[in-house]
Amino acid sequence: MNHPAMDDDAAMMLDTVREFARDRVLPGVIERDREEHFDRQLVRELGELDLLGGINPSEYGGIGLSHVTYSALLQEMSRVDHLMGLVMSFPSGLGGSGLLQFGTEEQKQQYLTPLCRGEILISAGVTEPASGTAVADMQTVCRRDGDEYVIDGAKTWISLINVCDYLLTFATLEKGAGRNSICAFLIPRDAPGLTLKPFKNKLGFRAVATGEVFLDGVRVPAENRIGEEGQGYGVAMSAVETGRLGVASRALGLAQDCLDRSVSYARERIVQGQEIGRFQLVQSMITDMVVGIDGARAATYDYARQRDLGERARQEASLAKMHASDVAMMASTHAVQIHGAYGTHEEYHVARHFRDAKVFQIVEGQNQLHRAMVAEYALGYRG
Ligand SMILES: Cc1cc2nc3c(=O)[nH]c(=O)nc-3n(C[C@H](O)[C@H](O)[C@H](O)COP(=O)(O)OP(=O)(O)OC[C@H]3O[C@@H](n4cnc5c(N)ncnc54)[C@H](O)[C@@H]3O)c2cc1C
Repeated sequence: MNHPAMDDDAAMMLDTVREFARDRVLPGVIERDREEHFDRQLVRELGELDLLGGINPSEYGGIGLSHVTYSALLQEMSRVDHLMGLVMSFPSGLGGSGLLQFGTEEQKQQYLTPLCRGEILISAGVTEPASGTAVADMQTVCRRDGDEYVIDGAKTWISLINVCDYLLTFATLEKGAGRNSICAFLIPRDAPGLTLKPFKNKLGFRAVATGEVFLDGVRVPAENRIGEEGQGYGVAMSAVETGRLGVASRALGLAQDCLDRSVSYARERIVQGQEIGRFQLVQSMITDMVVGIDGARAATYDYARQRDLGERARQEASLAKMHASDVAMMASTHAVQIHGAYGTHEEYHVARHFRDAKVFQIVEGQNQLHRAMVAEYALGYRG
């Protein structure tokens, strides 16, 4: 896999990720997918290796990586298991980005530092039953009551809910009042009135439980609010924008594994007396993968570089997320085809990639949304 030139520290970290992925993550990846099992021990080990801190600064348990190096580490892990890539991305993305940007000093010490060390897990609950894409239309409400807030509503399709210690979630002070009335809260999983109900048997991302969250008069101290009243939408967007670099990088790792496995298989499998790699129509699928991955990687690193320059780069974020997840879908479809019947069996890994790739096109903003945003920027409808 081609990454940009890196300094010695980053190159060493990349080697550590490769070794950990090969020795600790790969052996159980099929079973975790089949059993829908999340291995918390792997998270602790990633924490001990200092691989969770990502782009967060060292005073909060981070390793202060550049976005480019962060993306490279996620790609390498995701060649083996993009859900461990998700875990590595959480402290810098969905779980930690809002805390870093909007949290108080005390909140960062209390939550971000242990998150970066693998000591706690935080779920991020944005999506609601009636509003996935349209985040500002949320129906979950909060009201201030003395030193507390009372929260009522529901979230759905929330990841990690079987293992999280806290839920970062969002509620509006007034239904229909739009983004400026949204607040963000960090709620302990054992808070009275909070019910977490994982789904079973979803298409992909099976080793990470995803499910429903019910908030029934949940009381949280005001000090658990992240940011000011009305800044909750900003907290959510900060999480998803860095999250999009995570998704693009993970999708790329998955696509790369599809290519690598397809190349090996095409050179081994003999049909009608020749390696199937000699058939031009198989070569055409390999070409699609090489070209797609190359372009998506360029778009992803372009976005990462913009972030390293301190730019918000929303157009680049959409382009990278959409392109990398579309390429992952294409590459995994071709990979299953090249493997023939074997491609449909879990032992060959590409069937899992095929199921997971579809989910990548939906999470962190479904791809129609990103497609529209890319066009709107190009047309000058968005500034
Ligand atoms: C495995 C998994 C894990 C997830 N984890 C989390 C999580 O941890 N936290 C969280 O908050 N959410 C999570 N989600 C939810 C995910 O972010 C939402 O599913 C996503 O934002 C899309 O929302 P929706 O499903 O409500 O789709 P909808 O908004 O109902 O859209 C449905 C479809 O309509 C079309 N569409 C919608 N709007 C437009 C538009 N403007 N232009 C063109 N077409 C459009 C698209 O094709 C879209 O796919 C997860 C989802 C899955 C599947």
